[in-house]
Amino acid sequence: MSFIVAIDGPAGSGKGTIASAVAKKFDLFYLDTGAMYRCVTLKFLEEKIDLDDKDSVKALLKSINIDFKKEDGEEKVFLDKKDVTKEIREKHVTENVSKISHLKEVRLSMVNLQRKICSKYDSVLDGRDIGTNVFPDADIKIYLDASIDERIRRRIAQNKEKGIEMSEDEIRNSIISRDNNDKTSEIAPLKQAEDAIYVDTTNYSTKKNINRVCLIVKKARKKYERIQSGYVMTKETTLKRIRRSIIKHFLSAVYHIVYRIRKNGVENIEGDEGIVICANHLNFIDAAGIVLLNKRYIRFVAKHDLYRFRIINYLGHLFNIIPVKRDSSDVKSLKLCLKSLKSGEALGIFPEGTRKGMEKNVDVKNGAAFLAYKAKVKVVPVGIKGTFKPFTKVEFNFGKPVDVKEFKTNDPNWLDRATNEIMNQIVELSK
Ligand code: C5P
Repeated sequence: MSFIVAIDGPAGSGKGTIASAVAKKFDLFYLDTGAMYRCVTLKFLEEKIDLDDKDSVKALLKSINIDFKKEDGEEKVFLDKKDVTKEIREKHVTENVSKISHLKEVRLSMVNLQRKICSKYDSVLDGRDIGTNVFPDADIKIYLDASIDERIRRRIAQNKEKGIEMSEDEIRNSIISRDNNDKTSEIAPLKQAEDAIYVDTTNYSTKKNINRVCLIVKKARKKYERIQSGYVMTKETTLKRIRRSIIKHFLSAVYHIVYRIRKNGVENIEGDEGIVICANHLNFIDAAGIVLLNKRYIRFVAKHDLYRFRIINYLGHLFNIIPVKRDSSDVKSLKLCLKSLKSGEALGIFPEGTRKGMEKNVDVKNGAAFLAYKAKVKVVPVGIKGTFKPFTKVEFNFGKPVDVKEFKTNDPNWLDRATNEIMNQIVELSK
């Protein structure tokens, strides 16, 4: 999973300058997605493509070759191996880019390409729909903005520098019309993502704006590094085991003071064979209960971004918690889980994926059943009961192991059936 910085905003808000400075400072790959749409537009104009002729549109998109290279310290854009860095900023391209970039075929093709390129490298992308559409899971989303007058002033200066001839009125009309097209487009309109940080660049110098954004990215980078560290298990040393044992005993004592604990069926998780422990998820300390209150060493799978908190990061490493990025194919996490199960460990998973998932009617994923099948181990369903209010009773009911391979038939939905059975048992055990 690469580190992704998504920068969106209207023309002249400072995206290009800031994104390129961020790339330099944090050693990221920079993708100017506006330049990609400009290349497509230039090619459409050169080949005089009829926009209603979908076959020609698709054929052109298939054959187009866009490349970015740094030459003499300058970012250059190549269209079918020709340097078009300057040409794509010309008036005829600027006037048509908004319309062409919002054609469904163009958008699909470019978004796929952007995802493909940037999934390989830690990247910063700037555009209009990066945080909302291209990388909705970006590590940090920034929405840049500036007043219309300031944006026009910047464009005039940029054009002068690049030798592009456009009057002030032409620039003003072009920006207003592009803003309008970009914001009202049915496909991927320009808008601030809900979780984006809004930065108004109007009243600050370029240097100051770069620093403001770099500060935001620096924090996000740190958080990303802490999360990624979760995927690198620290070595199992004697000291680590001793520390884990001390902390486990201490926290277990606290758990016993705060709650009246009852456990049933603990024998179902004993032994030294790999098992998947699947429980209902009531709150953030129920997993701790399973880990702390049993003799067996149990590891848990937890949401990857919990590793961003310093204290959880420490405990996560100590207890070898396996991070998982939900709603994506987290191959690293899958490999760690399989390795753990195959080596005879007990691995705790919440199939609901979120707290009180069953109440929220979440779509339960097949991950636990799949892992158990792949690692050739059984699943122990666990029902947790209690309000978790201090000094009340909390009950952990461990059920009989379920052998998921018994569900394997020619029916392609056999994993769903296995998962349903596990969930039914969890419901019964938590009644
Ligand atoms: O950023 P720049 O001004 O070069 O972008 C040119 C045009 O490309 C924008 O006005 C917009 O219509 C389109 N664009 C887009 N989505 C992006 C980037 C640019 O629609 N992610």
